Amino acid sequence: MSENLANKIAAGEVVEKCASIVKELVENSIDAHATNITINLIKGGLSSIEVIDNGEGMDTKDAHLAFLRHATSKIIHDDDLFFINTMGFRGEALPSIASVSEVILKTSNGVSSSYIHIKGGKTLEDKSSDLRCGTDITVTNLFFNTPARLKYLRSENTETYNIVNLIEKLSIAYPNIKFTLNNDNKQLIKTSGSNNLLKTIHEIYGLNVSNKMLEFKASNNDFDIYGYICKPEVLKSNKNDINTYVNDRIVKNVLINRAINDAYYTYKPEGKYPIVILKINTDPTLVDVNIHPTKQDVKLSKINDLYDLIYNILKNTLYNNLLIPNAIKDKSVNIIKDDVIKSIVEDMSREEHQQEELNFVVEEDNNSLELMTKDVVINKELKSLVLYPVGLALGTYIIAENEEGIYLIDQHAAQERINYERYMNALKKKEFSVTRLLIPIKLELSTSDYTLLKEKMDILTSKGFEFQEFGVNTLLVTAHPTWILEGREEESIRKIIDLVLIGREVDQVKFNESLAITLACKMSIKANYRISPMEQEELLKELVLCDNPYNCPHGRPTIIKFSIYDLERMFKRVMN
Ligand code: ZN
Ligand code: ZN
Repeated sequence: MSENLANKIAAGEVVEKCASIVKELVENSIDAHATNITINLIKGGLSSIEVIDNGEGMDTKDAHLAFLRHATSKIIHDDDLFFINTMGFRGEALPSIASVSEVILKTSNGVSSSYIHIKGGKTLEDKSSDLRCGTDITVTNLFFNTPARLKYLRSENTETYNIVNLIEKLSIAYPNIKFTLNNDNKQLIKTSGSNNLLKTIHEIYGLNVSNKMLEFKASNNDFDIYGYICKPEVLKSNKNDINTYVNDRIVKNVLINRAINDAYYTYKPEGKYPIVILKINTDPTLVDVNIHPTKQDVKLSKINDLYDLIYNILKNTLYNNLLIPNAIKDKSVNIIKDDVIKSIVEDMSREEHQQEELNFVVEEDNNSLELMTKDVVINKELKSLVLYPVGLALGTYIIAENEEGIYLIDQHAAQERINYERYMNALKKKEFSVTRLLIPIKLELSTSDYTLLKEKMDILTSKGFEFQEFGVNTLLVTAHPTWILEGREEESIRKIIDLVLIGREVDQVKFNESLAITLACKMSIKANYRISPMEQEELLKELVLCDNPYNCPHGRPTIIKFSIYDLERMFKRVMN
């Protein structure tokens, strides 16, 4: 097999989209200790990709070696954990890219310099360059000689979007590096290289987001974690902004994602995702990277310890920063992302989105992890909150006031939260009291439900239910736990049986949680139902005592505040 053919085959692995080329080139710049990296795209990289850096550059010999397969000096021996100090460049990327495109490499280490022009693996020009120190590499005519692969490239918008995402993630990984990304001479990203993570987050996401980020930091024997998570007020509809890094490398790991997701449990609605920057530092020997060059999957030893570390610190960080969302949005300077990228995202077809989503399918892991409900510091601001009901609007929202302003409380969401915590507390108890029924509740079921339920009966009996068989497909409930809402017994029991029958949650804690959420929702006053002033007062009192009074268990807000200042601003009593 000729070297060029081998390169072309390898290109199929390395080069999937323009973003993978950008990734290889930018990671090389990072390895060369560049502090300033500019990426210039034309048509989202489909016409041209140029990466310019101020790194160490290469001498003439290295510049030539760079185009030879396996020639890189970065890999010392085969089992070297290549990502430890380098970014994963395996000496295949550049020759592979050059075999399926046209590449111009200008590089200089300050002593010697080179200009190498290669097309389809053939050298067209090879001379010295006038570049000072650093590297400037341009890739054009991608897949000109492998037209079959051209069709794998996505639309210009999608390619741009992927590259923007990549550079955002790299900017956050390396706040010390100044990144500039331009497409068709339009600036999409610019970071200052300030080495200040929060400032970088600001430069990427804008003030509206950076203002709502919460810092966290934690360690155990094996891992140091650090980063920022967003308050539940700023959520996204996709997972693109969950940025996880291990030793500064962008990684994806199912269990790390799950720890994040679990920490936000009931703080966010399903289908919404937080903005997270999670940097994990650990001994490289605990890390095992999939050898496939474009994969970001990472396997970690002691992953369960890491799960606990992440879950606990994120959950505590969220809990300790709970605040009532303000009704008035901050006016913020929207950085480029919002203007340019939003339109790009909107242009992306639904299909593309689904594709992205698929990449994130959560695989079930065999390790069933106990959700630890760690005791957290009582939120002081909240427990002292007193709300005086003023009335009920639209049969749905309680209007309340105190010396700080006006509050709107969603009566269903609020009661749902109260009931949810009540059920959770009851379900958590090892000992529970049982109500024996003088008149049993008769439940008729379909044959299939009846058969299935009999198999899963122990789930119910373990929670304090007692049954007797009674004729064909009929059960008598003779006892139930006392936490079942009085007057709504049959409805509650039927709901619980439904959940047992669906039976997706094997994990006890998770089962309890979904049970509590479902019951809480069913048993709470609906919207458009007028409750009395007394009931309003009672509801607010109970809400304030909740562990997290600000969200319903589905993550929707329960309460919104209009501060006196907000009101004065709205009525122009104060100006600014
Ligand atoms: Zn509900
Ligand atoms: Zn809800």
